[in-house]
Amino acid sequence: MEDVTAPPLEEYLDEARAWLAANVAPRPQRGELAWGVGSDRVSLFRDYSPEEERAHVEQVRAWQRKKFDAGYGAIAWPVEYGGAGLPRAYEQAFLKLERRYDIPTLSEAVSISLEIEAPTILALGTEAQKRQYLRGLRRADLMCCQMFSEPSAGSDLGAISTRAVRDGDEWVIDGQKVWTSGAQHADIGYAICRTGKDAPRREAFTAFLVPMDASGVTVRPLRQMTGGSNFNEVFFDGVRVPDSARIGEVGGGWGAMMTTLGFERASAAQGGGGAGPDIIGRLILTAQKFGRTDEPVIRQGFADLYAKNRMRSWLLQRSAARLRAGGVPGPEGSISKLAVTRWLQDAGELATSLIGPAVVADTGEWGTYAWSELICGFPGARLGGGTDEIQKNTIAERALGLPREPRPDRPA
Ligand SMILES: Cc1cc2nc3c(=O)[nH]c(=O)nc-3n(C[C@H](O)[C@H](O)[C@H](O)COP(=O)(O)OP(=O)(O)OC[C@H]3O[C@@H](n4cnc5c(N)ncnc54)[C@H](O)[C@@H]3O)c2cc1C
Repeated sequence: MEDVTAPPLEEYLDEARAWLAANVAPRPQRGELAWGVGSDRVSLFRDYSPEEERAHVEQVRAWQRKKFDAGYGAIAWPVEYGGAGLPRAYEQAFLKLERRYDIPTLSEAVSISLEIEAPTILALGTEAQKRQYLRGLRRADLMCCQMFSEPSAGSDLGAISTRAVRDGDEWVIDGQKVWTSGAQHADIGYAICRTGKDAPRREAFTAFLVPMDASGVTVRPLRQMTGGSNFNEVFFDGVRVPDSARIGEVGGGWGAMMTTLGFERASAAQGGGGAGPDIIGRLILTAQKFGRTDEPVIRQGFADLYAKNRMRSWLLQRSAARLRAGGVPGPEGSISKLAVTRWLQDAGELATSLIGPAVVADTGEWGTYAWSELICGFPGARLGGGTDEIQKNTIAERALGLPREPRPDRPA
């Protein structure tokens, strides 16, 4: 990695602040929120039509491009792959600052590509793959989706059955993936395929980068209960990719997945990039609107949410410190992810107790039914990136050192 002399952090942030102020409006702060003013959406997964979804993805990509061209789109990335080569602390400080501005709201498809797949290629790709993809991915000119899950392989990725068979200098892929977020926007897909017929799981799989426009790839969107279609089924029917599309060694797919899942947990715990709604601010506004701010149980609910939010941010600081010190994402990512999803659930429950039936019946009143998108979305957040139960297993085994869960394919 090329050496870069970092300016003092404060100086760097002053410049970043000036750039942000020149390019995007400030975000209303908590005390400035007003009932009935602006968008009332509080969602994780939007009920967008395909056209609205694409327009949103394009808006997020355009913002990423603008940042990239100004030197803020890949702050802690190596210079040779389009980054600014600065320490992670600079990137984290910029992202914190950026959230004070009215940047586009989160797009799961873009976050996955930028925060999970691009770091995976940086960590595991060949030099040629890094040169081919990384700059484009970080500038959001290219998008990559993640193709691990299958109809019979979710938590247990050892059951992946999509098969890649070697044919000279090529591999032929057949099978089906599911829940592939953003596949309809992706140029490439990072797919784990079974390559070792009877090999143990640690040697049975190989990772590939599959062009999504390759002959034999079919993407079919799935409709969610929130109304939109972020996820897809992806079918591979005799898809041919060159051996140069392989990520890592033949049989190295299990290790590759574990690396990627570390990035995925870290991204999920941080909130997935982009600007999320100020949930506590919106809840305060709601409590004020409905005259509930003096009720002890409601006040207790707020105190609980506030305290958990602080704990969540300390957990994130801990993960960030570990990364800054050159470590890889560890089991604390599981604790953070669990904390985020529980927090979202608690926020949804507080919203429900404040609003009552209007949270499930669209009366047209600003700031009421809008919460239903969050409430219907958090079960998805509990599953994606590893379910709550799987996070608990990771915490038990890797953080607390408890005995491993018994598994029939592993000696006791
Ligand atoms: C929002 C979202 C985005 C997603 N995006 C992607 C994507 O881009 N790419 C991709 O490949 N996949 C994606 N997924 C799929 C996701 O990774 C899987 O849904 C998840 O791993 C769970 O797998 P499953 O749905 O097959 O459930 P299963 O694994 O069948 O689990 C069913 C239930 O059993 C529990 N369970 C399973 N095993 C254990 C165990 N050992 N101990 C205790 N409990 C257990 C689970 O916690 C769950 O409650 C996404 C999912 C969601 C919801």
